[in-house]
Amino acid sequence: MSVKVAVRVRPYNARENDMGAELCIKMVDKTTTIFDTKSGATRDFTFDYSFWSHDGFEEIDGYFTPIDDKYADQRKVYMALGEEVLNNAWEGYNCCLFAYGQTGSGKSYSMVGYGNNKGIIPISFKEIFQRTDSRQSETLSFEVLVSMLEIYNEKTQDLLVPVNQRVSGGLKIRESKEHGVFVEDLSKVQASSYEEIERLMELGNTHRSIGATNMNATSSRAHTIFTIEFKQITKEGNKKMEKVSVINLVDLAGSEKAGQTGATGDRLKEGCAINKSLVVLGSVIEALADKSMGKKGNIVVPYRDSALTRILSSALGGNSKTIMICALSPATVNYEETLSTLRYADRAK
Ligand code: ADP
Repeated sequence: MSVKVAVRVRPYNARENDMGAELCIKMVDKTTTIFDTKSGATRDFTFDYSFWSHDGFEEIDGYFTPIDDKYADQRKVYMALGEEVLNNAWEGYNCCLFAYGQTGSGKSYSMVGYGNNKGIIPISFKEIFQRTDSRQSETLSFEVLVSMLEIYNEKTQDLLVPVNQRVSGGLKIRESKEHGVFVEDLSKVQASSYEEIERLMELGNTHRSIGATNMNATSSRAHTIFTIEFKQITKEGNKKMEKVSVINLVDLAGSEKAGQTGATGDRLKEGCAINKSLVVLGSVIEALADKSMGKKGNIVVPYRDSALTRILSSALGGNSKTIMICALSPATVNYEETLSTLRYADRAK
């Protein structure tokens, strides 16, 4: 299993601009430095990728267009992270791509995007269908199955079914010899074009467990998992072979809730369910990273400790590839949260 960690800083938002925000992040190559403007203290972190998107762009027709090399637009981020996910899937590996960060730091922007600035998920799907369309033949065919679920308060709901058809108490997570860990009764919908996937995502978004009035308050506390089962079917005479890989694209709940209850040990047990999955995910990735680096001793991977990590247990570990993109605010007002995001990212390496 390999883990890659990326950090991405967004530009100031309108509120930060209005209050004359100050910068607390610097990036040089793979090094990200956070500095406390009051004490002058600095801390350096090194990640596989550091994406700078604070300045160095111009907004032209709604596109954030780079005016210097340092600026990472959506395409650059896709080329670094999304393309690798696709290539891995093609080779038959399972992949997980997580977006972590406090609410408003740019998780959705990176994963889905806004307006013309499409994120990793839509760009990847366009690419998947371009590839399958150009490569299918009499002997090679493809199948793409989509599911979308939400974990809120440790309960799992199918986002591709209407809210009034939900199972109260959530869907059950089961385990079998044949299927490994799976979510019972979760719908899987076959998609044959990018447009179909886009429609499914839009549909799923309207089913999130949220009253319209407090959309942001609640959606920031739910994890959304978008899963694609990608099948490559080869026919040779009467023989049929299937290569299956599962790609999980996960927009995590806002990390600020994790900080509030303390992120370790016994506190976790009494901590609220909202952040449990985030904390356990951090431990799971840390344990897997230790294992892959050949660290000695009995490393226990605590998959079973949260709904999120249980559901993803067969997609993490083994030969799978994991990418974590951690979204950062550039402004000093968010210093504490940004530092805690950098620490989380650092553990995952
Ligand atoms: P989150 O999903 O973490 O709550 P969002 O992705 O919704 O945060 O981002 C908050 C705001 O910041 C949005 O208006 C979004 O368009 C903007 N934003 C985030 N990241 C970037 C970026 N890299 N470049 C430009 N704008 C961004």
